[in-house]
Amino acid sequence: MAPHNTGDISKRAKEALKVLRNVFPIPDFANICDDPFKVLIRTIISQSTTEINARKAFEKIAMKIQPLTPSRLVEAETKDIEDALRVAGLYKNKARIIKRLSSVILKEFNGSLDFIYTLPLNEARERLLKLPGVGPKTADILLLFCARRPVLPVDTHVNRVSKRLGLISRDEKKYDAIRSRLESLYDPEEYFAVHMLFIALGRAFCRALKPSCPKCPLKEICPSAAEYRGSHLRQSQSHYPSH
Ligand code: SF4
Repeated sequence: MAPHNTGDISKRAKEALKVLRNVFPIPDFANICDDPFKVLIRTIISQSTTEINARKAFEKIAMKIQPLTPSRLVEAETKDIEDALRVAGLYKNKARIIKRLSSVILKEFNGSLDFIYTLPLNEARERLLKLPGVGPKTADILLLFCARRPVLPVDTHVNRVSKRLGLISRDEKKYDAIRSRLESLYDPEEYFAVHMLFIALGRAFCRALKPSCPKCPLKEICPSAAEYRGSHLRQSQSHYPSH
């Protein structure tokens, strides 16, 4: 069993990142965001669906509505948006959110999300959180991916992996507490890599059900590896807030 004092947790956090950098590729940070509005739409589409279906749905909507801007989406027929999003599930709900979101961005921000680059970090986050369909994870993705702000977005994989690795208490349910704690374990220039690599590990090995601990590249340093050997499962991601 791995030790649990603060220094050891910090060491384990860094070691996990080092190992994962050698296992999974990291997307090019420079090309991750061409337009914050498109990243926002893509993130809403990706809720409760697979990466593949989210990509297909985004490609369809970007093909059908050109250019993909708040004003074009406000003008577009709801049915056209629904048809494009059908493959990603919850398409009626997602289409309704995208319409409302586009309308608010158009009316309140003149169709632009450029405030994420200029406003102080907390102010920019608060403004994003007022938008329909935007929760803390989505806001932080925009702030990190597009504006390069020093935030570490916590999605369901990042939450689960961090808790199983013993970096975060399993009892912690509050998004901001989880994010702040994780941020304190890494340097800001590592946040993007941690976010992407924990998601990659969560998909490939540290799945919610039946994690593949014997094959996991972190099995030597993970305090949960023994716990998940066999059939005993504990779902550390329960009650985690979505988007
Ligand atoms: S050893 Fe198991 S519980 Fe730990 S990170 Fe890997 S898959 Fe997850």
